[in-house]
Amino acid sequence: MTSPELRTGGSGLAIVRTIGELRGRTAVWRRAGESIGLVPTMGGLHAGHLALVRHARGQCERVVATSFLNPKQFDDAADLERYPRDEARDVAKFAAAGVDMLFAPGGEEIYPEGFATTVTVAGLTDCLCGAARSGHFNGVTTVVAKLLLQALPEVAYFGEKDYQQLLVVKRLVRDLDIPVRIVAVATVRDSDGLALSSRNQYLDPEQRNLAPALYRELTALAARLGDGRDAGTALARSREMLSQAGFDRVEYLELRDGETLDSLSRARPPARLFAAVWLGDTRLIDNLPVA
Ligand code: AMP
Repeated sequence: MTSPELRTGGSGLAIVRTIGELRGRTAVWRRAGESIGLVPTMGGLHAGHLALVRHARGQCERVVATSFLNPKQFDDAADLERYPRDEARDVAKFAAAGVDMLFAPGGEEIYPEGFATTVTVAGLTDCLCGAARSGHFNGVTTVVAKLLLQALPEVAYFGEKDYQQLLVVKRLVRDLDIPVRIVAVATVRDSDGLALSSRNQYLDPEQRNLAPALYRELTALAARLGDGRDAGTALARSREMLSQAGFDRVEYLELRDGETLDSLSRARPPARLFAAVWLGDTRLIDNLPVA
């Protein structure tokens, strides 16, 4: 397949669809001694994704972004079906942000007929998002392992918005000796505190108005737990507050160790709050450190 080349403001963004093209082009850069930063995404770009690109742009000579709506990490067919897809819009954003190459493969390129391997990180994936979304993290680790081995970047960028995913990817890379440095990028929020997410566009105006109450509650709870008090009562009160505020369901609101994800009854470094809530059929997640 030919690769269209886009020119935006003097910088070039190459779009490649095959692993062969990706390997060929990154090999040229590697031979020239240029460092490569990888930014994996599922498309549906917003300023959070572009913050990852900005970090990569600042630290690496070449930036490769990937856009692959990975079916294996969706446990709900309806969620996959309605996920935002607008490649032209994403391409324009990647180009403007200074991405050198976009790897946007089709499903058959990543999971060809007969694909039979699953990468599993045990332990860290049992709780929080892993408890409710069966197979989700296996889908993430399988595709991330493949993308890292395909692009062989020096550095790969992941957002703290998906904090459990970040820890799981770090463990994956360590356990499989994949020679890449994982860099965490702070959560990008709207001015009212709502963590940016591709799924925020599903919220109707009333839900969008309510959504930042999650961040406000997490912030208040983090401040309350900072003195090391017993977390049980405070967590229960915050769950109640969120329900009363209008969230349709609090899937989880938990205090855990920010490295091991062990459950904590009192905050102590590096304690972190993790939450997943529902507004209608839209699931929002967020997390914050407890200082
Ligand atoms: P996704 O396209 O949702 O799979 O996300 C791709 C990458 O962008 C992941 O590393 C996410 O953690 C990161 N990301 C998503 N939303 C944000 C955000 N609001 N702030 C920072 N990073 C984010």
